[in-house]
Amino acid sequence: MSTLEMARIHLKKVVIVFVVLFFITPVILVIAYGVNCRNFISPLNEEDYRDAIAKKESPLKMKEDELKKYEERLNTLSVALRRQFPNAVEYILQILDDNIPTIYAITPTHTRHVQKAELVRLTNTFLHVKNFHWILVEDSEYRTPLVTNFLAQSGLRYTHLNTATPKNYKMKENDPHWLKPRGVEQRNLALDWLRENIDIATNSGVVYFADDDNTYSLQLFEEMRFTEKVSVWPVGITGGLKFERPIVGEDGKVKGWYAAWRPQRPFAMDMAGFALNLNLLKKYPNARFDITAKRGYLESSFLTQLVTLNELEPRAELCTKVLVWHTRTEKPKWKEEDAMIAKGQPSDPRVEV
Ligand code: UDP
Ligand code: MN
Repeated sequence: MSTLEMARIHLKKVVIVFVVLFFITPVILVIAYGVNCRNFISPLNEEDYRDAIAKKESPLKMKEDELKKYEERLNTLSVALRRQFPNAVEYILQILDDNIPTIYAITPTHTRHVQKAELVRLTNTFLHVKNFHWILVEDSEYRTPLVTNFLAQSGLRYTHLNTATPKNYKMKENDPHWLKPRGVEQRNLALDWLRENIDIATNSGVVYFADDDNTYSLQLFEEMRFTEKVSVWPVGITGGLKFERPIVGEDGKVKGWYAAWRPQRPFAMDMAGFALNLNLLKKYPNARFDITAKRGYLESSFLTQLVTLNELEPRAELCTKVLVWHTRTEKPKWKEEDAMIAKGQPSDPRVEV
């Protein structure tokens, strides 16, 4: 190859490299500077920069001012509150304690003459429980005004849901109370609501099924508060006995059930006898109550999906104390009311009972 030829090839290479660099460099620069490339091509002067920053900051500044205003308002309110009720602020702060798990109590409820009275009794208990969130689920096609208004003035943190029990499972007026499962789809709906709305990464919580007619001691809620998987305890006045309870062995583990009716059930206890950690709902996203479960097996239909007997955490002094009662409210006599209606003289319908 002659020197001239070599020089030509060399020149060709140089030209190719030059051309490639000429086209590639701007592309690299654009990528490297990304959205700022405009600034790179035509840099802003100092004043423009200040304007741009000021523009970005102005919504932040507005938010900051807004927050300041809220803070001032809160201070004024707490001073006013303290003047009226000296311990109110401390009380509220004590009720909302960020350092302890929230108790999510799920209550199915249905319209009947005693409903409001039951809800009043429950509220009077729940208002004393720290970090408490009530999930009240109406067995109804819609959320009734009675329950809606009741919750709004209850002073509790709450979620109001509704779902009607399928017709073929719905109790008839004169059915014996054990004939059909009660509150099943309502509890399942609440479980799904928790799964969808509560982030377990930032919220520690315990889930408890609190029927609207039972009686709950305040101590019960502190027993369940720190539940790792599923905690259990006795329930008074249930299963035809003075109480039912888990049988706890020497090693502090649950061995079986003290119950008269089918003690061989996997979890022979009432709905009021256990609570579970919220995180189990995420761990077992399909766990739910089975409306087709045999009579007395509703609790077992759910719990067998979550824990084993050996993992249960006995509470209430190793299940020796009764802290919740499966009370049932007598159906009121309505004979005279019906007679008055028949006579065309019903009581004032504007009075809510
Ligand atoms: N419940 C309901 N729909 C019904 C019957 C009952 O939502 O048709 C609710 C009821 O308000 C209660 C729970 O389900 O919170 C359990 O019902 P109940 O107390 O009648 O059952 P039991 O005490 O006999 O197990
Ligand atoms: Mn009941």
